[in-house]
Amino acid sequence: MTTIEVVGVPVDTRHFIGGQRVESAETFTNTSPIDGTFLGEISRGGQVEVDRAVQAAREAFPAWAAKTPIERGEILHRIADFVEQRLEDLANIETMDNGGLLRSNLRGVMPRVAHNLRFFADYAIHDLDHPDFDTRGHTNHVSWDPSGVAALITPWNAPLMLATWKIAPALAAGDTVVLKPAEWTPLTASFFADLTVQAGLPAGVFNVVQGYGAEAGAALVAHPGLSRISFTGSVPTAKVIARSAADNLTPCSFELGGKSPCIVLHDADLELAASLAVEQYDNAGQVCLSGTRILVHEDIADAFAAAFRAKAATLKQGDPRDPESDIGPQVHQTHFDRIKGFVDRAAAEGADIVMGGEPNADLGGLYFRPTLVHQPSPGSEIVTQEVFGPVLTMQTFATDDELVSLANGTEFGLAAIVVSGDREHADKITKQLVAGTIWVNCFFVRDLRAPFGGSRKSGVGREGGTWSFDFYADVKNTVVAPTGWKE
Ligand code: ADP
Repeated sequence: MTTIEVVGVPVDTRHFIGGQRVESAETFTNTSPIDGTFLGEISRGGQVEVDRAVQAAREAFPAWAAKTPIERGEILHRIADFVEQRLEDLANIETMDNGGLLRSNLRGVMPRVAHNLRFFADYAIHDLDHPDFDTRGHTNHVSWDPSGVAALITPWNAPLMLATWKIAPALAAGDTVVLKPAEWTPLTASFFADLTVQAGLPAGVFNVVQGYGAEAGAALVAHPGLSRISFTGSVPTAKVIARSAADNLTPCSFELGGKSPCIVLHDADLELAASLAVEQYDNAGQVCLSGTRILVHEDIADAFAAAFRAKAATLKQGDPRDPESDIGPQVHQTHFDRIKGFVDRAAAEGADIVMGGEPNADLGGLYFRPTLVHQPSPGSEIVTQEVFGPVLTMQTFATDDELVSLANGTEFGLAAIVVSGDREHADKITKQLVAGTIWVNCFFVRDLRAPFGGSRKSGVGREGGTWSFDFYADVKNTVVAPTGWKE
């Protein structure tokens, strides 16, 4: 079968290469995390499909690169129009495929997909500019040239949103694209490919190869025909990709994990702090930016913990299609087992699990209860490694120095949340934190103009605004002398 019906909407199960649907003899099985429903058998690509896709992208590159940003922008805006027209279908398919809340997909995630496309299209037209500057009468002019074929490897936690966060700037920069979506959540990428056809994106400019990371993904990142690799996922996979990329010296952008602190200073508004901390369970904790380590001043720890637990008790866990649900299932049995393993090992070591700590037996399946581990032993894996589930830890501190050392005390540096009622105090702390993004008295406020990425093992490079174009494009400086002109 080359098409499956998901919530009544046909989704193609084949790859999308050179504007054509391409089937593989082998498939992989896709099920819904909501209740284990079988969704379909998906074409499982490898070297052959990757070779075809990179070839198609290389052939399409010169004509796409030759278009002006305005011409490219028109097509990207048309794709965004179709995303908006099919927003409900996209939201439903994504929820079935990855178990994210339908409410969030409808209101936030899918509108963001369209916004990603529009933003980078417009940025290339209006904002991608560096003022010329003078060197002893010579003019320096900076420009951004299309670089070639960008390979995009994306994760399953916000599949289409994170894919378009890469697709949009790559296409706007004049690159062509081969996307390898995560094997647990391939459906919206396939549906999106149809929208690009409707919008008139030339064949070969955007390609999708489905399959396992170790097969399709590995073949793609090792391909010598790429100009860029952009990856969002885990640190171990990034290391494998970096080794492959090294053979061809393909530039890589990595957005990796985190173990970000959610810091509550003694002068914080406790209600706000509790709300922000509880938000860290969003998407069943499957958010790289999540502030999973709550660090709270010891003087207010008890009051904060009471406010936190009262808020957390109002969270309703359930079917993500139900608008009343706040927390859905984990994405996949393998991932569920991984989360449970972390919590079980912490419990076996005697950790104080004050909330949750187990699967939700009422719901069964892949639903894990929102969990809080109180004062984990310093250095234990529950407080140093990324769990990527609804599992938060809470530690107390007495001084700012102690706080900063705790906050910066992991190998990650993706994000941090600081809750404080005192601007000077907040400022003093933020200056000392190692993090790509810091939110003060807020969470998840994201502007595509802002640099986004991680320090330390949380990533390599930054994307967003000009930073995205600096990565996907070949940045060029042209120096023009004042002399030698026959004028
Ligand atoms: P997780 O373990 O949480 O699924 P990964 O980092 O392994 O996170 O997966 C993110 C993406 O990386 C997925 O699309 C996956 O298929 C892909 N991937 C996994 N292994 C490789 C690899 N060796 N080469 C290229 N891509 C890979």
